[in-house]
Amino acid sequence: MKTFPMFLTMAGRRVVIAGGGEQAAQKCRLILKTEAQITILASSLDPELADLHAAGKIGWDNTAITAQHFADTALVFIATGCPGIDSALHALAKDAGATVNVVDRPDLCDAITPSIVDRSPVVVAIGTEGTAPVLARQIKTRMEELLEPRLGDLAAVVGRLRDSAAMRLKPRQRRDLWRWVFNGPARDAHKRGAEREAAQLIKDAIATADFGQAGPAPVSLVGAGPGSKDLITLRGVQRLQEADIIFYDRLIDPEILDLARRDAERVYVGKAPGAHSWPQDKISGLLVAAARQGQRVVRLKCGDPGVFARGAEEADALTEAGIPFEIVPGVTAASAASAAMGGFLTERGQCDTLVLTTGRGEHIDDTPDWPGLLTQGRRVAVYMGVGTADRIEAALTTAGLAHIVEVDIVANAQMPSQKIAQCKAADLTQTINNHGITNPAILFLSHRKTAPVQLAHTA
Ligand code: SAH
Repeated sequence: MKTFPMFLTMAGRRVVIAGGGEQAAQKCRLILKTEAQITILASSLDPELADLHAAGKIGWDNTAITAQHFADTALVFIATGCPGIDSALHALAKDAGATVNVVDRPDLCDAITPSIVDRSPVVVAIGTEGTAPVLARQIKTRMEELLEPRLGDLAAVVGRLRDSAAMRLKPRQRRDLWRWVFNGPARDAHKRGAEREAAQLIKDAIATADFGQAGPAPVSLVGAGPGSKDLITLRGVQRLQEADIIFYDRLIDPEILDLARRDAERVYVGKAPGAHSWPQDKISGLLVAAARQGQRVVRLKCGDPGVFARGAEEADALTEAGIPFEIVPGVTAASAASAAMGGFLTERGQCDTLVLTTGRGEHIDDTPDWPGLLTQGRRVAVYMGVGTADRIEAALTTAGLAHIVEVDIVANAQMPSQKIAQCKAADLTQTINNHGITNPAILFLSHRKTAPVQLAHTA
């Protein structure tokens, strides 16, 4: 970030605008939305500024400008419309130690005005550091659609009721209350213009501490998808943003954790390289303990929580402790890998049975019956299969299928380091070695050639 967004306190502070024409008027309109005291430095004022001055809304100083004019200001805008004068005034303002914005001169700006979505007191500021104003406007348009025009009034009502809620409710309850307010009937009522009804609903909720929360919030077992930030579901993002504490696994992209609240606790419960995994009962114990403390718990798992993620064990432990849970599905690695190849998991007339397996049972000798699984019309997606590739190859060789079964290998699907390779089962280990393929990878086994696949590495 070359610039850092901050919200400046403006009430009662001085803002000086140098210039008396349209550019100055534009800045003036912007700052009039605040409670700052505006002074215009100009020898003359255009009609709009003159009217504002006459109405007592802005000050006007037409004396010769010195550094002193810029002293003790929250912000200075230089907007005379004349580049030479702007540069000279910029130097004076800097002498006075002011924070300066010079119109159309990013090189002279200490501060840039963002695109603003104003639902005061809710204000969204969008900046692109001058790289893409068009993008900033597009984002602004999206925000304008997303935030109903009256949202600021609702936020103001909430602001007025904060003390009352603080007196009656515990911090945890308050968080649930505000979540309910902005996500439930009060906001709906407010949106449709029933402002009094909305305020009454909130007051009643504070008085009765009843806003739809019964018992501990469910622990969310959330699927993060295969690793890239844009392949988590919207529901998953929502749960992350609500979470007080997040227990996350290996293979979770750090950018996904950035979607959570900044003050949410993040606890890594994955396997460190070369170390043992966390014992499953310890993880389950942590989930139960955090939920019992009244925290909103997210258990973030790669891919889908229902696929080779030991979700059932955690769910059992929660159920035993009387804590509800929900499963937020995610894009499982097989889907991600198949899509990465431009292929399809099932295909009418070609493949009507999809098998998801690990190639590893509970015991070391629990090898699946590969030839038995690999009948015509089936596709077998092998998770965690790189380490057992030699056994797959051996079993299919013994069964005489090694030259019939095709294998598609997708490592790090949907990530910049993605690699795709294809071979006959007879060449599986060699292909894995040649391509330097390591976990995480999915092996697809089937009797026929699947979708077009590059043998090359893709980045
Ligand atoms: N719950 C996860 C699976 C966890 S088991 C899911 O639904 O996808 C871990 C295995 O998943 C890895 O060994 C690998 O086989 C597979 N996997 C996870 N992410 C992957 C990715 N981005 N590309 C390919 N395989 C992946």
